[in-house]
Amino acid sequence: TRVLLTGGSGFIAAHVLEALLARGHSVVTTVRSQTKANAIQKDHPGINNDRLSFSIVEDMAQPNAFDRAVVSDPPFEAVIHTASPYHFHAQDAQELLVPAITGTTGILKSVQRYAPLVKRVVVTSSFAAINDVFASKACKVYSEADWSPITEAQANDSPANAYRASKTFAERAAWEFVEREKPTFTLSVINPPLVLGPIVHNLSSLDALNTSNQRIRDFLSGAAKTRCPPTGNYLFVDVRDLGLAHVLAVEKEAAGGKRFFIVSSHFSNAEIATIIGEEFPEYRDRLPTGDSLKTGEYPPDGVYGFDNTRAREILGVHFRPLRESIVDAVKSLLPLGVDK
Ligand code: NDP
Repeated sequence: TRVLLTGGSGFIAAHVLEALLARGHSVVTTVRSQTKANAIQKDHPGINNDRLSFSIVEDMAQPNAFDRAVVSDPPFEAVIHTASPYHFHAQDAQELLVPAITGTTGILKSVQRYAPLVKRVVVTSSFAAINDVFASKACKVYSEADWSPITEAQANDSPANAYRASKTFAERAAWEFVEREKPTFTLSVINPPLVLGPIVHNLSSLDALNTSNQRIRDFLSGAAKTRCPPTGNYLFVDVRDLGLAHVLAVEKEAAGGKRFFIVSSHFSNAEIATIIGEEFPEYRDRLPTGDSLKTGEYPPDGVYGFDNTRAREILGVHFRPLRESIVDAVKSLLPLGVDK
């Protein structure tokens, strides 16, 4: 299948790209600069232009940003939209809301207008669009049936809420688009919680480390010893399983019209510290202990559950356990000098 992948420079997109190429698909990926295109090309030396090429989309917050990118020869049959800002330092909620929502509706509009052979669009949403962070109850079991109730007013309360709202509103806008426009393609949405696992993309510098891996960096550098990173949720998935899930959502007819909650299991900061301490004893002294581990510990009345049946049964995804994800994340981060 000929696939357009947006946001190719990202942590997750790099794994989506690997899975696409490994399964024989031909890919054009959008990036924001030629430098980023060159870096990705360098990571795939044996892959020629027919299987991997690039299209520059500098800022998807601009109207019609994807109009040119969706046109290709041979034409695209599927689109995977992963690009979305993911950070917790927005000065203003609009910094996240505008590119997330405009990017998502923008690509759907461009596909509808200019890419008539596209049969499936897969959008990367988040557990943030499912999780009710304002009333998480121990007895709750989250699934695709749940939606975050976050409001526009709450989006302005904190950078974390701005991110949660950006994912929730962007996903809602995607389903509303399909409902209203009845396009010739079907939509599948992928909802992962915290994504951990090895980095395979070329980082320009450690400052460019993606948000979810900054947690592991802080454990290795010793920064978490005094201040453990807070947890917005208690569930994780390995980035390799998530990358494959995106591709399976393109390949499987039955994935059309559905959201997929792509979750492996629970995690806490204490569990991450235990795994790193056991597997990499030379870093034991740097790891948080005692009171600092209270940040990100499971709530005293118990933690909510999850139901990943749909992802396992329809997509056929198998989920790696936390230990494998942490060990491989650490191995990929150490050569970057993350422990210095
Ligand atoms: P990254 O920060 O590594 O990737 C984000 C990507 O979006 C980058 O390629 C970035 O380009 C691109 N992007 C951001 N803003 C714009 C813009 N205005 N115009 C064009 N491109 C833009 O994060 P992840 O790989 O972790 O995230 C990928 C997706 O997964 C996002 O949709 C995110 O919300 C979602 N997600 C991630 C989770 C996680 O734990 N990592 C959990 C749940 C969902 P550039 O690098 O050039 O800025």
